Amino acid sequence: MQKSIERIAGESEGISYEFPLFRFAGTGKAAPSAYLQAALHAGELPGVVAIDALMPMLAKAEAEGRIKGDITVVPWANPIGRAQYHFGEHQGRFHLGTRTNFNRDFPLLAAPDAALLPDTGLGSVDQRLKTRLVQLSLGHDIVLDLHCDDEGLAYLYVHTSLWPAMADCAAAMGVDAVMLWSEDTDGTFEGASIMPYQNAPDEVAKLDRRVATTVEYRGILDVDGALAAADAEGLYRLLVARGVIADTALPAPGPFTGVVAPLENIEMMPAPRAGAVLYDVKPGDRVAKGARLATVVHAPGETDGRTEVFAPQDGIILTRRSRRIIRAGEDLLKLVGDSKSADARSGTLED
Ligand SMILES: [Zn+2]
Repeated sequence: MQKSIERIAGESEGISYEFPLFRFAGTGKAAPSAYLQAALHAGELPGVVAIDALMPMLAKAEAEGRIKGDITVVPWANPIGRAQYHFGEHQGRFHLGTRTNFNRDFPLLAAPDAALLPDTGLGSVDQRLKTRLVQLSLGHDIVLDLHCDDEGLAYLYVHTSLWPAMADCAAAMGVDAVMLWSEDTDGTFEGASIMPYQNAPDEVAKLDRRVATTVEYRGILDVDGALAAADAEGLYRLLVARGVIADTALPAPGPFTGVVAPLENIEMMPAPRAGAVLYDVKPGDRVAKGARLATVVHAPGETDGRTEVFAPQDGIILTRRSRRIIRAGEDLLKLVGDSKSADARSGTLED
């Protein structure tokens, strides 16, 4: 394993950002390669601690000569967001200098060719970080971008071109659900990892062995030693299932038995009023159409001071807010409906 330091120059003299990069060299030239990064949204740490738990497993595999494909690991991909504290609160989702989400505005290349990328010396510091992350990841057969939601199940976003070929990965990781998407108008890192292959010839695209996914490792507070160890096992099983690491002791993953649904089935449930949220449901709950999901207390103590929110269709609760104050129009939760949402959104679901 080789460790190197990536440096991103800041926007004024005396400021620069650094993050470590770890490379394991594979011994099998035909084996798939893998790139793992965590905490692009810099405060989302379940993936960071999962990688921390995975690294000794990779080191052991390397010592035993079982790493077949090259593996690149970036445990904390966003040193800019990592350093952003605003009035005492960490703010790792948006770059404070540009108000741009750290997981939007990635370059969506027409082909998987790093020569098409913008110059890494151009643009604002967050743009340069994004260009560098695409440069580092492009060309790997497997690209895993580890995030988390507010409160939620473990789930994956997967482009329709990779499904059901990636069902073994979902099963290996042990996630609860897979959300399928088809268009990226916002430039997510996952979009930057898969869209360049959409018009590539089959021998380049290799969609049967390609993996690109945004992994949502539950909620922002699910930073926990036992979960990290379990998630590291899941990542390891994926790497073995796809031939990046050899491990004859592991059985092949079984069928994926979790929820699989297109993004258009998700009900985001905007709050009708601003106030305090009393949830009736939590992630994993199965609900029927008409079930009460939450009550918003908008005028405490007053007649008609509460507004109830009901499920528009049958489905399963995927996520909910981790805070309990809500603005009018802000989304209360994600309900994966059994059919298309009347409020279906295209592209990314949230800012
Ligand atoms: Zn995120």
